[in-house]
Amino acid sequence: MPELPEVEVVRRGLARWVRGRSITGVDVLDPRSIRRHALGTEDFVGNLEHATVQDVVRRGKFLWLPLAMNNTLESTPAELPKVALMAHLGMSGQLLMQDPHVQDEKHLKVRIRLSPAEGMPEQLRFVDQRIFGGLFVTSLVPTPDGGPGGLGETPLPEIAEEASHIARDPLDPYFSFEDFYRKVKSRKTGLKRALLDQSVISGIGNIYADEALWRARLHYARATDTLRRPDAERLVEAVKDVMNAALAAGGTSFDSLYVNVNGDSGYFARSLNAYGRAGELCGRCEEMGLHSIMKREQFMNRSSYTCPVCQPRPRNGRW
Ligand SMILES: [Zn+2]
Repeated sequence: MPELPEVEVVRRGLARWVRGRSITGVDVLDPRSIRRHALGTEDFVGNLEHATVQDVVRRGKFLWLPLAMNNTLESTPAELPKVALMAHLGMSGQLLMQDPHVQDEKHLKVRIRLSPAEGMPEQLRFVDQRIFGGLFVTSLVPTPDGGPGGLGETPLPEIAEEASHIARDPLDPYFSFEDFYRKVKSRKTGLKRALLDQSVISGIGNIYADEALWRARLHYARATDTLRRPDAERLVEAVKDVMNAALAAGGTSFDSLYVNVNGDSGYFARSLNAYGRAGELCGRCEEMGLHSIMKREQFMNRSSYTCPVCQPRPRNGRW
């Protein structure tokens, strides 16, 4: 699965190339990739054709393009339902900007043709090898807190319906520490479970949860109701730091003419301190002259990587 920084790189790239352009045509080459659009191919295409892409917005790993309808009817814009094109990348979904003369990719599923603009590719292509991802048109609804729906170029208090139940992610400028801390304290769970809970904080996957916990020197099984404010503050800062570091690394490894993301964890040159480092020395302990070996433990059918010295396991789950 792409992690949050990868999805943010896609959002930025797309915003640069598709904002303000209208959709002139849509080719659905594989209906499986629009199976989440319940009303079928004709309805999907009908919703997109002649619409203008207003923005590219993201909350957590949800990514959507709010659309403005260029209709010629005498209705005012306020009367039109507000819709967005939702892009779900799944395991292997990619969004590519391409010129028409570029040969179709092997796993090209949907081609969206855009109004010509100087120096800009004319097609947005959805390529997906494993078909877990997909595109669909969805409704935009008012945000529960009245703030912007997510991270976009023009903040509007509307959000794609599917994303409206999830909390803001740590890259969102409207992310609230107080809201996060209140939710964490009220849950009777372990800290890593809370970090992976999209209703507490969105967009954190297994890799960045381990990285942030290591950076904040907290154990994944720490009981959330024992978390003190300074611990929580350190954790949120750690989450933001690991995300921003990944974003900085990814932002340089990606060709600005070519919006691309896939599920390969090797896509971003990650420098990881915890995840995947079982059996290796803890870098922080080593700097302090300590010899501590990182360990891997089973957690929620996956793995958790911790340093037994600087992230000690809480006794009986409590501190
Ligand atoms: Zn350590």
